[in-house]
Amino acid sequence: MIVVMKPGATAADIGAVIRKAETFGVQTHPIYGENRTVVALVGDLTGLTREVFDQMEGVSHTLRIQEPYKLASRTARPENSVIDVAGGRVRIGGSAVVVMAGPCSVEDRQQIIDIAYAVREAGATVLRGGAFKPRTSPYDFQGLGARGLEYLAEAREATGLPVITEVMREEQVALVAEYADILQIGARNMQNYGLLHAVGKQSKPVMLKRGISGTIRELLMCAEYIVSNGNYNVMLCERGIRTYETATRNTFDLNAVPVLKGQTHLPIVADPSHGTGLRELVPAMSRAALAAGADALILEVHPDPDTAVSDGRQSLTLEEFSALMKSLRRIAQAVDRTIWEPAGLLDAAGKGRTL
Ligand code: PEP
Ligand code: MN
Repeated sequence: MIVVMKPGATAADIGAVIRKAETFGVQTHPIYGENRTVVALVGDLTGLTREVFDQMEGVSHTLRIQEPYKLASRTARPENSVIDVAGGRVRIGGSAVVVMAGPCSVEDRQQIIDIAYAVREAGATVLRGGAFKPRTSPYDFQGLGARGLEYLAEAREATGLPVITEVMREEQVALVAEYADILQIGARNMQNYGLLHAVGKQSKPVMLKRGISGTIRELLMCAEYIVSNGNYNVMLCERGIRTYETATRNTFDLNAVPVLKGQTHLPIVADPSHGTGLRELVPAMSRAALAAGADALILEVHPDPDTAVSDGRQSLTLEEFSALMKSLRRIAQAVDRTIWEPAGLLDAAGKGRTL
């Protein structure tokens, strides 16, 4: 249930609604939007009727949220959520589309620093790179771990690009959150509820990837686990699902982009690299994802994909990435959006330029 406050409701009115709801033992989540404030009530609502709030000062009306994902739903918050990354250096979910790029894995110190400069030069504003890698085989490269995180931080220091990297286990959350600007939950961990709980208890933005066989509804329920633990800085990522089709590594479900935009206020990211598994398909599907309404793209880029330790087959070369950025700017214009450019990166204090 949500209690919709009148436009002029005071902090005291909102506080009174929260205290009243808490006497019924439910969890309260005030959601402050541009046009209205609501208090979302979740938990066991039996015994709580709408009349409880109807006569209270500052209350406009109450609504039942039909969807099982309450706080993530558009009903709870009709406006798009915009997530501040690295203190607002980049914002995801507004009219400017953010491009995150970098290698699948951090391979060594110089590699990640060089790629960071190169992708920034081409127009990326977030650096990706895995330090902890979820690999299908336990004998494959598992990532540089903590050392990889340090190299990512050095690359950020050098270029000003905020960093996104995967956290695989609950025990790693504190360490990864110390270095990363966005924590990535990988497809294989979409329903790792302990991990979802842990990233919900800290405040760094989280990008939750759709599970390999996850439905859109399951993805939204997993986002709800994070949000209901107090962290609203969640974005959802379509990265392809397992189907009977073998021509591509995964079936990139572009339907998910507009479906999710309709059902949630959270920003939507598209990952055409994992979605296709084939570098030659990545430019077309990146443009399609942007046209379909994605708020950000995450792309694997490598200076020499044939020697990449992971996902080389789907990694763009630096030249291909640069050419793609040019066409993305044109697509953005056609759908009344822009690309968040490196020149717009703010310093940590939210002003000035890092370039
Ligand atoms: C990755 O981003 O490199 C990755 C492992 O992604 P996913 O979890 O979508 O497979
Ligand atoms: Mn990868």
